[in-house]
Amino acid sequence: MTYETQPKASHFIGGEYVEDTNGAPIDVIYPATGEVVARVHSATPAIIERAVKAARGAQAEWEAMSGTERGRILRRASDIIRERNHELSVLETYDTGKPYQETSVADATSGADALEYFGGLAGALTGEHIQLPGGDFVYTRREALGVCVGIGAWNYPTQIACWKGAPAMACGNTMIFKPSETTPLCALKVAEILVEAGAPAGVYNVVQGYGDVGAALVTHDDVDKVSLTGSVPTGRKVYAAAAEGMKHVTMELGGKSPMIVFDDADVDAAVSGAILGNFYSTGQVCSNGTRVFVQKGIKEAFLARLSERLENAVIGDPMDPETSFGPMVSENQLNIVMGYIAKGQEEGATLSYGGARIEGDGYYLQPTVFSDVTDDMTIAREEIFGPVMAVLDFEGEAEVLARANDTEFGLAAGVFTQDITRAHRVVAGFEAGTCFINSYNDAPVEAPFGGSKASGVGRENSKAAIEHYSELKTVYVRMSPIEAPF
Ligand code: NAD
Repeated sequence: MTYETQPKASHFIGGEYVEDTNGAPIDVIYPATGEVVARVHSATPAIIERAVKAARGAQAEWEAMSGTERGRILRRASDIIRERNHELSVLETYDTGKPYQETSVADATSGADALEYFGGLAGALTGEHIQLPGGDFVYTRREALGVCVGIGAWNYPTQIACWKGAPAMACGNTMIFKPSETTPLCALKVAEILVEAGAPAGVYNVVQGYGDVGAALVTHDDVDKVSLTGSVPTGRKVYAAAAEGMKHVTMELGGKSPMIVFDDADVDAAVSGAILGNFYSTGQVCSNGTRVFVQKGIKEAFLARLSERLENAVIGDPMDPETSFGPMVSENQLNIVMGYIAKGQEEGATLSYGGARIEGDGYYLQPTVFSDVTDDMTIAREEIFGPVMAVLDFEGEAEVLARANDTEFGLAAGVFTQDITRAHRVVAGFEAGTCFINSYNDAPVEAPFGGSKASGVGRENSKAAIEHYSELKTVYVRMSPIEAPF
């Protein structure tokens, strides 16, 4: 490897790289080749303690700075990230295997967007004034929560590190971020850049580790808030552990989102939506519309066009800017997805496209489409988290909406139709937090993002995130004489 993938040390605490090789080793594997490109160590209890102390120690002073000053630091970090987009994107590709064609426009840039947006909001955060009879009034102070823990999934390591860090820091909190053990590299760069941009030591810390490190952080007495991006089973554990300490939570969890294509839809647009919502990042996106309900009238046209378009996928070396479809993140994830493909065939779905592993050292799998999928099949019920699309038939609007909502998940949902009234009616009926009309998977920082039902609690991005990283203190001010009954 000519590119430097090995970080200076495993953790970033109190403004500097910190190592403790007593922690279990975590090998970082480049998914395109299976090569080990770096090694870090899981945090020991001493490292966890050190991170919490650093974050606690920095918090009051960080909160006491003016919002404008805090915001300036975040915006400066955003500028540095944009300047270094190329090297950060290459690192993201090593960490995840996602093609550079994607990482160069969707990862560091999305992290920079969050730092810029919340940097801009930081100086505009205010409480309110509420006038009461007799001249009395109430004012509210918007205060930081304190020390926030962010725990990341492996599919968007830079983005998740920033989506959690930016609003937390804008509100005057400090953060300890634990990346996924599968993709530990990118968050360290975010921490380094924040310090370079002027963030005081301890404001943004990174510790590595498996689930046990996450659990130790969640249950730590000196942690006030936990924001997790991960699967529903992990979310249940983390939510329960946080509840024990009455800590604030944000839960960004999994999904099995529906995409409904009515027969008046523009077929090419619907196919584009289905491709973006199933095969971007090799299908490893939480909000993917993996249950594609296609109205009977256009089923054949949709499947034919989809297969034609999939032929254009360029599968190969993720560093080649022409490559548009990379490997799965890990051998483990590849095996999980292969298991679901086998299940789809066993349960009687028609394999319309792909379905096979691509031979070689990397964890490559063909983009895969199943048609004739029914609601009870495993591939229509469980989150696969890979490039596997399930196409289901439907006849009418009421029927498809009920079927679309018949899931424990509620992260996202989309509809393709030319009928504007129907589009809004269907979206109003979706039980999902993030919906799309004639589009799929857009996530601009200005818009709230998050799930309902088992898919999550709280929202990331937009002004809504401020509510989840701050709390209000109410101050009653009496101007008239105070009266007591005795
Ligand atoms: P995961 O649930 O296995 O792990 C997520 C993180 O939680 C990891 O950092 C892991 O180390 C940590 N963890 C595991 N057990 C823990 C515990 N008991 N206490 C504290 N932390 C613990 O998920 P994953 O495989 O890394 O990511 C894939 C999942 O993430 C999918 O379900 C996907 O839908 C979801 N996801 C959701 C969003 C969203 O915004 N809603 C975004 C990306 C991914």
